Order: sequence, then C-alpha cells, then structure tokens
Amino acid sequence: MRQDPFGNQGNGGQRRRGGGLFGNIRWVILLGFAVYGGCYYFGNRSVDPYTGEKVLIDSSLNASEEKAMGLQAYQEILAQERPVDPNSQIARQVREIANRLIAKVDVVETSLAQEHGLQPQHFAKDFEWDVNVLQSDEANAFCLPGGKMAVYTGLIPVAQNADALAVVMGHEIAHALLRHGAQRMAQQKLTQIGQMAGAASGMDVQQQQMMMSAMGYGYLLPYARSHETQADEVGLMLAAAACFNPEEAVPLWQRMSQASGGQAPPEFSSTHPNPGTRIQNLQALMPKALEYRQRYCTAGAAAR
Ligand SMILES: [Zn+2]
Repeated sequence: MRQDPFGNQGNGGQRRRGGGLFGNIRWVILLGFAVYGGCYYFGNRSVDPYTGEKVLIDSSLNASEEKAMGLQAYQEILAQERPVDPNSQIARQVREIANRLIAKVDVVETSLAQEHGLQPQHFAKDFEWDVNVLQSDEANAFCLPGGKMAVYTGLIPVAQNADALAVVMGHEIAHALLRHGAQRMAQQKLTQIGQMAGAASGMDVQQQQMMMSAMGYGYLLPYARSHETQADEVGLMLAAAACFNPEEAVPLWQRMSQASGGQAPPEFSSTHPNPGTRIQNLQALMPKALEYRQRYCTAGAAAR
C-alpha cells in the first residue's frame, strides 16, 4: 500500500517507573502487561474465510469504521496527487478492469471459504468501490479498506497489458478484502503494549530498541510477507475468475522486480517476498487459477 492509512499513532508509554526500588516490581509489571497483551491477542482472534487462517483483528473495529478511515485517507491522498481525467482512455480501461474484478469478489470468497470448510462473511458487501488513475512515475497501486483504489500511471508501462494490470489490481483488492490494514492496526496495538511494558518495567532505551527490532524481524516483517503471499493468491483467483489470464502474473512480477531496481515503492519492495519465492508461489498456484478461470469466467463476464 502506498501509504499507511492507519499510520502508527506512536505511544505515550515512555514513562520510567520504579527502577530498582523493588526487584520484583519489574517482573510484576511485565507479567501484568503480558497478561494484558495475551488477553488482547486471544480475545481478538478470528478466522479469515479467504485463507482459513487465524488472524488478529480488533473486534471493536467494525466494517463501517474501517471504511470511514479508508475514505478519509483516500480523500487526503487525492488532494495531494494528480488524478487523470476520469474520461480519459486509461482511466476508463482501469475502471473496466476494476469492475470485472469486483464483480467476482463474492464468488471467489465463497469458493475459497468452502475450500477451508468455512462460510463466507461478505465483509466487502458495503464497500463503496472507486478507482482513480494518478499521474506519477511510481509503478504502484493501492486499494484502501472500504474499496477506494488508485493506479499510478508509472505502473502502466511495467504491466504492459490488461491481464498483468488485473493481477496487480487483484492483489491490491485482496489486501482490502483480507483486512490487512485492520490486522496491522491490531499488530501496532500489541507492539505498543510491548513498548509500554518495556518502559514501565524500567528497561533502558537501548534494551527497548533491541526488543523492538527483535519483534520487527521476528514477527512484524514475516507477518507483512505472509500478507503479500495471501494477497497474491486471492488476487490471482480474482483475476482468473474475471477472465484475465493468470499466467501473466509470472512475467509481470519479473518485470516489477527489474523495474524496481532498488527504489521500489514500499508496497512492492521491502515487505514483499523475495522475487524468486514469489514466482515459485505463483507457479504453484497456476493450476488452481486456471481452474478458477474455467469455472467462473462465464460468458458475458469478459470483454475479450
Ligand atoms: Zn501487497
């Protein structure tokens, strides 16, 4: 995603307390935070219908709040960027691709949920989908919670064709469907609980930084990578069901990694899987994608 719409709120928990006054206090405080963190973690677990995996999403965050946050972020982004004329040929083409993908959200969710023995939740039923093309050299795109999307003009020459563009847009839509933004918020909350625990128990700044970087490498980064892998899978199924050629995904990601040349936007660089691994994953998914295409690409769905 181009920009984190839920940006880290920072934390107000940097107070130092009770240094070495009572040796046991530190452990009591740490235990208290561990219990709090544990309650938060286990109290907010749910099963995602698309992947069948347990995910951490704050149960107090409902769909309309998430949508409102996405909408607010979208308006801020549009105010800063240069959207191209919605009637231009490129804007119309991108909108058509988006519409074809969106039309398959329900059927793909239902199908993936069934594969995991789950019921679809139709979380996206109240999304207010919209897409704009933004003038920029970045080869990037995003879809915010609530369904507001953008494609940067810099992506067009890398995508080269509608099938590849559909793969990228499907990937972005999948992030919104999988509620990855809400999962990151919950993760940030856990991280803040960890920071508060560190500060309150009297760890010095260096110890706190070590703890945070260990969490970053051990937990947050792999987590971000698994989100990318999930978005690749769900996005590929959407593209296939919408009658695009999923096989374009492999050369597309090869071009993306070439084009990125060390200065890729965040969405397509640091948090993304190693390009070789990503391509292997996509190749492994190809039989399923082709099956989705055969099963769900019905007459009238494709303009090709
Ligand atoms: Zn992604």
